[in-house]
Amino acid sequence: MMGRSGKSKTKAQLEAENLALLKEVEALRNRPLDGVQRRMTEALHNLQVHQEELRAQNEELHQAQGHIEKVSARYRDLFEYSPVGYFIIDDNVSVVDANITGMGMLGRTKGRIAGKPFLLFIDKKCRHDLDDHFATVRSVGRASTELWLLPDQRPPFPVNLESVRLGDGWGEGWRCLSTAMDVTERNRAEMALRESEIRFRAIFEQSPLAIQIVDAESVPRMSNRAWVRLWGQASSIPVAGGGHPVLNQIGAESLLVEGLAGRSLEISAIHVVADGEQGEDRWVHGYAYPILGQGDSVPEVVLVHEDITERKRIELALTDRTALLRRQYENLRVLSEIAALPPGPASQKLADALDLGRRHLDLSMGMISRVEGSRFTVEHHSASEETAMADFDLASTYCALVMEQDDVVAIAHWARSPHADHPCYRTHGLESYVGVPIRVRGKAYGTVNFCSTTSSPRDFDDGDKEFMRLLARWIGAVLEEDAIRRDLARSNAELEQFAYIASHDLRSPLRQVSSYVSLLERRYGDKLDADAREFIAFAHDGAVRMDQLVVDLLEFSRIGRNAKPVALVALSEVVHESCANLHSNIIDANGRVDIVGALPMIQCDPADLVRLFQNLIGNAIKYSLPERPPVVTITAATGPMSHVVTVRDNGIGIEQIYHDTIFGVFKRLHTPDKYEGTGIGLAICKKIVDQHNGRIWVESSLGEGTAFHVELPRGS
Ligand code: ADP
Repeated sequence: MMGRSGKSKTKAQLEAENLALLKEVEALRNRPLDGVQRRMTEALHNLQVHQEELRAQNEELHQAQGHIEKVSARYRDLFEYSPVGYFIIDDNVSVVDANITGMGMLGRTKGRIAGKPFLLFIDKKCRHDLDDHFATVRSVGRASTELWLLPDQRPPFPVNLESVRLGDGWGEGWRCLSTAMDVTERNRAEMALRESEIRFRAIFEQSPLAIQIVDAESVPRMSNRAWVRLWGQASSIPVAGGGHPVLNQIGAESLLVEGLAGRSLEISAIHVVADGEQGEDRWVHGYAYPILGQGDSVPEVVLVHEDITERKRIELALTDRTALLRRQYENLRVLSEIAALPPGPASQKLADALDLGRRHLDLSMGMISRVEGSRFTVEHHSASEETAMADFDLASTYCALVMEQDDVVAIAHWARSPHADHPCYRTHGLESYVGVPIRVRGKAYGTVNFCSTTSSPRDFDDGDKEFMRLLARWIGAVLEEDAIRRDLARSNAELEQFAYIASHDLRSPLRQVSSYVSLLERRYGDKLDADAREFIAFAHDGAVRMDQLVVDLLEFSRIGRNAKPVALVALSEVVHESCANLHSNIIDANGRVDIVGALPMIQCDPADLVRLFQNLIGNAIKYSLPERPPVVTITAATGPMSHVVTVRDNGIGIEQIYHDTIFGVFKRLHTPDKYEGTGIGLAICKKIVDQHNGRIWVESSLGEGTAFHVELPRGS
């Protein structure tokens, strides 16, 4: 009997056994019963067992089939819904099958794809690539190519086609599986990356800042052009030891260390001193930025160096310029202080100026020397100077150099100057000196110089030299003015002497003429005809007028000749005395003089002041209109520094154009037959006012009266 132990039988075996058993049962049926019966029972039993086994096996088979179907359905799903497109391609490069994704990619149903050449679904421009692709699959079993699929009604798009040859189990003939993966996004990302890389490159390369990227081992990875320009090709910055001499000097190492520690760092304005090879000094502004990696790691560091040499150079030039300007400003300040020195004797002004200059230049002596031939004479020296006026051999002084060069000579320290062997140091012990020529009336006069027996605390710059030139011009002008003033005083004195003598001496022949003309008239008057008598009268008038002229001229020349002591005088008294002297003129003219308001006390020469007001009031009465009796008003106003006294009349007035000229000697606006006079009165007034350091001016218009204003200082 067959049991279930042992190797399980196949279905065919079981069926064959079953058939054999059935045959055996049939044979038994035809045999005698007892033996037969027993054997039949056995056979039946076996048959049942077999049937049972067959059923069980059928069951297993059924289950296995169900499992296989499930797995197959899963694989089918995987195949169909895979995110990549699958295409089974046959030997003719036609599509045998395609999954759903593949169909979706081509925008077609399976019916429109199956059996069609794959070429139809590829963009024209890649057809060549497709041929190559499958040729490769044929020769080496697999290939990978980027191609553009051409879907129905949609624009082509890029896929990465990976094909692999399939085994025989995939059907008859040659087969391959092609996987198409949409790379549109990947390409786009790649493109974006490439563009960003191009942009980064452009910025990196074109940046005016020197940029280098170094890795964690401090090996330079990238250097832009500006970096190479700044530091040269070979510059690297090893963190420990050695390294680039310039970069080490500017602390690039520390920048790198900081950067590698994950911190940004900035070092401003580092001075890179030139060494033999580098040529010139540089200034650099440095930064380090870490490029952070995963976790706390800093895989790379960006070093940025800005070459600020030019900016720094400008900054330094500006500082120098500012210092120079400050110096120039000081020079001008001192010069304006010198120019504003109070009026006074030239010698005092020059001594004060030399003192200011000496202090300004930080030297101990200042002097003005006269140079004549080979002699050098000190004419003025700074006020604090105790050296007596001296006379030297020009050749023993630095001034010889000034005269020779006709320009500034500046020696801050004799030993360091080109004039170290000049005899001046040995003869006079001068260690520092600055001198410049002076010209007076266009001719070389001498020098102004400042010197010291110690060296100058600083070097003399162009500003100091300009200061000296300007000072020399000012001194030249003062000396010139002094010379002119002295010449003028001399010639004035001579002129006044001449006028005095002339007018004094002229009067006696005049008196002689006039007395003989009177004698002629007295003795022979009755014998002469009317014409002759008239001529005699003219001659007499002429002599009288001439005498008056001479008297006035004499008076004019006398003013200020013998300086009389000034006194504090009441102006009202002066006016009263003047009016008393003019009494008959005022009466004859039917005029009036009014004093309006109080008149001040004035520090003056009383006789001169009477002369002044007598002239002004006399003119106010004289130059009146026939139809308007003269009214003269005298007023005074007192200011903080001066008194202004005004003599106003209601007379004929003076045209604007003559307001200045009338103060000149012999300046008259009328002929003697109309208004008598010599034209000296106002000249005398002006001279008196000048003598008292005051001023006189007129306000008037024709026919409307005249006002003369006299301003006299309060203190005088
Ligand atoms: P004169 O001896 O002619 O008066 P002055 O020197 O005193 O000489 O005056 C000069 C000129 O100024 C006069 O000739 C006159 O024309 C004019 N003048 C002076 N004072 C007056 C005045 N108060 N009104 C008008 N004219 C005047």
